[in-house]
Amino acid sequence: MKTPIDLRGHHVLCLLTYIGRGYSTSFTENLNTIVSAFHRGHAAKIVSGYDALCHCESTPFHCPHKGSTACRTASVETKDKRTLSALRVFAPHAGHWQIGQAFHFTQPLVAELRQAFKAGSIRPACSSCEWQGLCDEIAASDFRRTLFFSSLPQGPSNTPK
Ligand code: SF4
Repeated sequence: MKTPIDLRGHHVLCLLTYIGRGYSTSFTENLNTIVSAFHRGHAAKIVSGYDALCHCESTPFHCPHKGSTACRTASVETKDKRTLSALRVFAPHAGHWQIGQAFHFTQPLVAELRQAFKAGSIRPACSSCEWQGLCDEIAASDFRRTLFFSSLPQGPSNTPK
């Protein structure tokens, strides 16, 4: 059985708008590996706190913000909680959005989540995020150039922020 990939609440949203940009080249390389694993059928497991985007156990990768004051603030955990709560209300997939729950992303689920993202109904976590402008543009373009379960033949660009 393929190992589930740990995912904190608000990173569900960040996957929807991922176009190959992130905090650093190593950050995007790690995220490209995660996206590829989801495409190959790995499950996601919702966790509290640090997840696979924050660090990788098999490589030296750590997000440059991991452990920083900004990262440790309660507001990041609040983002996770508010996202999971918003997802529970919106989707007919309520069982997915709980700590410890594993599930598979599918193209229909991702399409449904993107619709809700574009409508703004699952984005309480985005209001305090430095990437909000970019993610607004990506949603407005109907998620063109996104790499997570995108039907478009785009390769990761590894463009650091
Ligand atoms: S605005 Fe921030 S929290 Fe929201 S999806 Fe984009 S990167 Fe993630």
